[in-house]
Amino acid sequence: MTTLRCAAAHSEDPSPCEGAHAVVRVVDQHGDEATGCVHHAARMYASLVRPRVYPSPGHGGKAIEVYKRAAALAPFAWVNAAA
Ligand SMILES: [Zn+2]
Repeated sequence: MTTLRCAAAHSEDPSPCEGAHAVVRVVDQHGDEATGCVHHAARMYASLVRPRVYPSPGHGGKAIEVYKRAAALAPFAWVNAAA
């Protein structure tokens, strides 16, 4: 199944997006950034060194949600996932 996914979805992470695809922007320590859904943005955030997350316009609460979810995730959560 090939489904278009958000920009934060890692190429080796097979999980589908959750909700809208561009609710937050995740920025890494080098200033590179990707927009993503809550699910993939949280996984990306948990995998980066000193990341930042910003909500997209109209999605003010989503950055907090990503931050909270990421705190409960291991880096590169998809590597050892059974999913
Ligand atoms: Zn996604």
